Amino acid sequence: MVGIVVVSHSRALARAAVDLAAQMLHGQHVRIVIAAGLDEETFGTDAVQIHEALLEADQEGDGVVVLMDLGSAVLSAELALELLEDDAARQRVLLCPAPLVEGLVVAAVTALSGATGPEVAAEALAALAGKQSQLDHSGADHYREGDPADAVTGRFQVTPAHGLHARPAARLVQRLQGIDARVELRNLTTHSGWVPAASLSRLATLGALRNHDVEVRANGPQARQALEELQALARRNFDDPPSAGSRDPSQPSGDHTPIDASSRGDLLAQAIGGPFPASPGIGLGPARLATGRAATPAATVETAEDPAEGRRRLDTAVAAVRAQVQDIRRRVADDVSEAEAAIFDTHLALLADPELLEPARSRIAAGQAASSAWANAVSVAAAGYESLADPYLRARSADVRALGNQVSRHLLTASDPSDELGERGGVLVAADLTPAQAATLDVERIAAVVLAFGSPTAHSAILIRARGIPAVVGAGAAVLGIADGTPLAVDGTTGDLVIEPSEAVVAGFQARAVAAQARQQQALALAAAPATTRDGVQVLVGANIGSIEDARDAMAAGADLIGLVRTEFLFLGRAKAPDVQEQESVYRALAETMAGRRVTLRTFDVGGDKPLPYLPQAIEANPFLGSRGIRFALQHPELLADQLLAMVRVAHDVPLSVMFPMVSTLDELLQARRILDDAITLAGRGRPAEFQVGIMIEVPAAALRAATFAPHVDFLSIGTNDLTQYTLAAERGNDAVGPLADPLDPAVLRLVEATCRGAGAHATVAVCGELASDERAAAVLVGLGVRELSVTPHAVPGVKQAVRALLCSEAAALAARTLDAPSADAVHRLLRPPGRPDS
Ligand code: PEP
Ligand code: MG
Repeated sequence: MVGIVVVSHSRALARAAVDLAAQMLHGQHVRIVIAAGLDEETFGTDAVQIHEALLEADQEGDGVVVLMDLGSAVLSAELALELLEDDAARQRVLLCPAPLVEGLVVAAVTALSGATGPEVAAEALAALAGKQSQLDHSGADHYREGDPADAVTGRFQVTPAHGLHARPAARLVQRLQGIDARVELRNLTTHSGWVPAASLSRLATLGALRNHDVEVRANGPQARQALEELQALARRNFDDPPSAGSRDPSQPSGDHTPIDASSRGDLLAQAIGGPFPASPGIGLGPARLATGRAATPAATVETAEDPAEGRRRLDTAVAAVRAQVQDIRRRVADDVSEAEAAIFDTHLALLADPELLEPARSRIAAGQAASSAWANAVSVAAAGYESLADPYLRARSADVRALGNQVSRHLLTASDPSDELGERGGVLVAADLTPAQAATLDVERIAAVVLAFGSPTAHSAILIRARGIPAVVGAGAAVLGIADGTPLAVDGTTGDLVIEPSEAVVAGFQARAVAAQARQQQALALAAAPATTRDGVQVLVGANIGSIEDARDAMAAGADLIGLVRTEFLFLGRAKAPDVQEQESVYRALAETMAGRRVTLRTFDVGGDKPLPYLPQAIEANPFLGSRGIRFALQHPELLADQLLAMVRVAHDVPLSVMFPMVSTLDELLQARRILDDAITLAGRGRPAEFQVGIMIEVPAAALRAATFAPHVDFLSIGTNDLTQYTLAAERGNDAVGPLADPLDPAVLRLVEATCRGAGAHATVAVCGELASDERAAAVLVGLGVRELSVTPHAVPGVKQAVRALLCSEAAALAARTLDAPSADAVHRLLRPPGRPDS
């Protein structure tokens, strides 16, 4: 017989629930094991205790169904599952998201009948239906059904993978807006009661899962049109993209995604493979939502107010929050994609939900103060979600509360202080950041950054890394549903993100931070010394920078040179192009900061995800394949000429290199060199003595033809960020293809090898893409013939240490193996993790 484990924060609660279930068993025995409370009185859950309970409940080997109460009970149960050493035993355990009390009663009776584990879990999941329909029919709520006699009726089947979850439901609500009809729905499969289709929160209570049949009943002048619109929407799969929601929400989203299941929203399914590690280091602290959501405002005692004034204040606050959400939606649509922006349609639908607004307005009309009337309505609506069986829908309660808090803050303070990025210390959680926002993050206050979208090689991630702030990206839109103030633990080295970490998890993260700090300190002690392999080959380790501040960091980190100045970042957010003089003084200041070390200035690399505000670009369908890098510069020769003139003037006084980005053809290089020659002539002092010219190898065509370029340059610098996206046809900022865009893919490494081979003795080869900052990659890159690595400033000491550990002959043998590896994963396995010689 299937066993049952009851996981609860309270031992007393678990015992009482088991006693209640026993009443239904009429003296017969079902194996129910309790894993609840830390002791008789202390609330809490313990993975080890649950693990033991699992073993006890599965004594007969027929499987176990686990029922849990809230929050961390789910996380502890998941951990306990991982502790099971026997794979077969683990397969027999089902973590069931049914409500604890109702679910346990039904599960016990079903288990007694000899049902299988999945059957027991399915019955437990449906346990709320009875209560729901009873309440729907008892008139216990204020919703009045339409007149069935004149109704137009029809039905549709639910097709989205996760049922009528937030986004499909939001689209359903939107579709009916403006149609003069009163529409109600009921779930025929679960025999639910009728709910109004205009209410997002009531739609959730239908518990409509995939393949459920839903009946529509419409009254009013446009009833038929409403019915037809709904059926057409259903036939279109509620406009859900085919891939969305393809992941089982009850499963972890990836190898390293210990997101607390209680906080997992349906949209986490969109984080394909994320979160991705984006900037190393550990960050612990309260979540700081950059989406305008903040913690529950401090409770205030409000006296009753004039109903008309209260109603006006509520409407104003709701309108203000709607404007904020619309603004975020617009930004996400512009910066990320329309599909991701659609997430915010759910929030907009909630803000217009009559089931939320009307109860608040009725309370105000009855004399209650606006803020408490609103808070009450929000609590009722959120509790409605929390009582749902489906974990997907249950997680929407966080959205209701977060939006509710946002409106409350407007009601209480008439402003929302959370809009300033990182204004309040903690872990910044945002949809994505623009390069300008990333460049200005407050290092002192922001412990870590969690981005719902984006990839580690997006420019925002590069800038966060340059600032030394730990970060994970591509974490999925569900992170935007985390309540402001929720404790978070972030490991930007591994990509781990833990919501509401236990004390043990916090201690583990702190231990990792201490170990990393010890390694960094050891590396820092030797940072200023050259990086020479064990067999005496010196590899220059430089830094990539985008500001004077970065240059100072690079000096402090012992950089041998600056291998890449992203000059476009020096003039971010400007309304007007910098003139020659201004550029000259900035380049000079950088060179002075570097005190005689070589500085490699890359000409403006605009386009793609880096727009230039003072020179609007044509809208392109595929900007990364359009006018960017040198292509854009050659289309604006006057800008390039000014920049090169400023660089040449400085080059007369310090060792300086100029580098052209995204070159694909020799002709582009020759055109750029002609403009450079003109600048040298214009500067009037002949060719600067220590001047070097190079190009970036970012396009496969250039890598394959390195031998053609080499005689015309002093160096080739491989930009693995772009080279990876173009080799694998996987856009660097698109988290949906994040796992594909791996710079350690053998195809990318073969292009690095081709570049080194093509360069021969004519030109030195550097790597300035983010791959160079990965200590594990040093062996492969040096083994392939790369002799300069330009990395994010904080990575300089560690990369130098990694080089010092190498023997060139061994590195070459390893590199050869990576070229023949069947996959990027296989390459990862070939590389030793830093600091672990044998693993
Ligand atoms: C690269 O593409 O690897 C590179 C270093 O340039 P950026 O990241 O600025 O495009
Ligand atoms: Mg690039």
